[in-house]
Amino acid sequence: MIILITAIFPEANAILSGFSMKKVAYNSFTLYESEQDALRLLLTGSGKLNAAMAMTEYLTIHSVSPQDIFCNIGICGGDSDSSVGDAYLCASVTELTTGKSVYPELYHHPFPEARLFTSDTPVTSPFIKQEGNLPVLYDMEAYGVAVPLFRKVMPSHCFFYKIVSDICDGTVPSPEAVTKLIQRQLAPLLTYLKMKEEELSLFLTENNAPQHKIDSMAKNIAADYTFSTTMERKLKGLLTYAFHAGLSEQELFSALPKPTDTPHKKKEALQLLDALESFVLTNKSTSDSGKPFDLSSDPRRPFRHIYVERDVLTHPVTRQILSRLPNSSVIPVEHYKDVFNRGKQDLSMQEKEPSLILAKNNGTYFYPGAPVCQSFGEEHFMYTSCVMNCLYDCDYCYLQGMYPGRNMVVFVNLEDYFKELDTLLANHPVYLCCSYDSDLAALNGLLPHAKAFCEYAATHPELRLELRTKSAALPFVRELPAAKNIIMAFTLSPDELICRYEHYTPSLRARLRTAKEAVKRGFSLRLCFDPILDVPNASELYSTLVDNVFSVLSPEDLTDVSLGVFRISKDYLKQLKKAKPSCSVSHYPYELTNNVCHYRKERCEELLSVVRDTLCRHGITENQLFLWTPDESGEI
Ligand code: SF4
Repeated sequence: MIILITAIFPEANAILSGFSMKKVAYNSFTLYESEQDALRLLLTGSGKLNAAMAMTEYLTIHSVSPQDIFCNIGICGGDSDSSVGDAYLCASVTELTTGKSVYPELYHHPFPEARLFTSDTPVTSPFIKQEGNLPVLYDMEAYGVAVPLFRKVMPSHCFFYKIVSDICDGTVPSPEAVTKLIQRQLAPLLTYLKMKEEELSLFLTENNAPQHKIDSMAKNIAADYTFSTTMERKLKGLLTYAFHAGLSEQELFSALPKPTDTPHKKKEALQLLDALESFVLTNKSTSDSGKPFDLSSDPRRPFRHIYVERDVLTHPVTRQILSRLPNSSVIPVEHYKDVFNRGKQDLSMQEKEPSLILAKNNGTYFYPGAPVCQSFGEEHFMYTSCVMNCLYDCDYCYLQGMYPGRNMVVFVNLEDYFKELDTLLANHPVYLCCSYDSDLAALNGLLPHAKAFCEYAATHPELRLELRTKSAALPFVRELPAAKNIIMAFTLSPDELICRYEHYTPSLRARLRTAKEAVKRGFSLRLCFDPILDVPNASELYSTLVDNVFSVLSPEDLTDVSLGVFRISKDYLKQLKKAKPSCSVSHYPYELTNNVCHYRKERCEELLSVVRDTLCRHGITENQLFLWTPDESGEI
């Protein structure tokens, strides 16, 4: 349902005159409803407090469905950038007196955008200084609507659509003029909101269908056995994995023992789970993960919105990045967490249209390397997280479990990172991984970070810098100062798995071509077969991968090779399941040791030895190999 919210009757009248609506009065608001058009109109009364009370009361009385879309529509004052009659979708809503803001999540839409300020009294001269590149509007209700609304509703389902009725010059439009202004802009708005509503409904149906099927299968199986709650959860997990790994219901049922007349005991239920797990793992279909990603039908539009902390609005790195994205909306924010950590984020939309957040890191610049990461025998192993989130979208990526959303945070104060690095290097050499929580090389066209770290390393030989990447950016490799203490580390996967799991990343051939160029230029080269995934035909896929590598590179090109099977912390896996509900990787029946989920030990060894043996056949020595095994972390 679409719920429109207006403050005064002349605004409401524009909607009432177009639809046949039934009126219901409540304490603090009036509600009009058209069942036929699935449309509600909430009339709050003017002013921020009335709006907040009405919205709160509405949300207490009426439950919110995941398909509901809320839109506050009304008149506003504009600044000199706008004209009477212009209509805008608002990218931020700020309370004028306190400066507190909320940020609706806006995705592809046909309207111009603005920043909206809610004042307690009519604004008769615009006084917000120009920041960012959006026009500024003033109203008296939006912030009151937004605060209760954002507590219950996803910011991507909340819209603030404002039509300029005056240029803050004291002009008061007549009720008839207000109605006309709204009427003129109503049709395009409603067309857009209807389209959003349909998209949402389709998305929810598609996403809920597999779960209904799995629940009903689990119910059928559990009816014949004595299952504890934990066992039932495991059964559902196995069925979910089987479903996404391409096994049919018939195949699964054929693997189960036939039910008898007497209910099965708990012991038999446990045996059933074991049998089911081993059946699922040995018979997962080659169509694992369902649909391969189709880039042409799902193009991404990254960084249409750039949120910039006020402190760094004029920072040279901010200016450089903004100049490379001239068509994006620039929205000033107090702190990056106001956007990055907000509640109820729309992960599926952020996957397609991530926003960029430019900020200042005031905390830690360098961290000690984590146990699940390889140290390559280096004593002072550190990593930095100057960019959070990645341009690529790998289904198995732990970042989806680590961060609350898919937007990308970029810390622009690189000078502070290098100052800290100077201090560290004054005490001891450092082995630094600068591209763990993002892929900096892939972002080189937009961010100066990868280049800046490499240039620093080229003049500081006591720093060993690892730049891990799945990119194939030849110009980037060619423009950098080459140095042996810079390790270009390319993560490689079989092409089939690149297509299925590593969305938007370059092909294997392109990565290898760039790796070869890196060697020619004089960088150290590391190849990373990490994570190795337990997929159907894993042995063939990974041994062919290694053969393909040595059709381009020779063993002497490589400084070292890192190998590791997929592993992820329990908490991150929980989030990954939500972020990637239809990917089999997140539903695999992992073993859990000390909070790390991993394949069974024997399976880890099988997968690692396939790759290791093929590498050795091609002339890689044991000294060049670094393996991550479950015991390696010291935790498992
Ligand atoms: S390239 Fe690396 S950091 Fe980027 S999404 Fe893939 S796994 Fe994550």
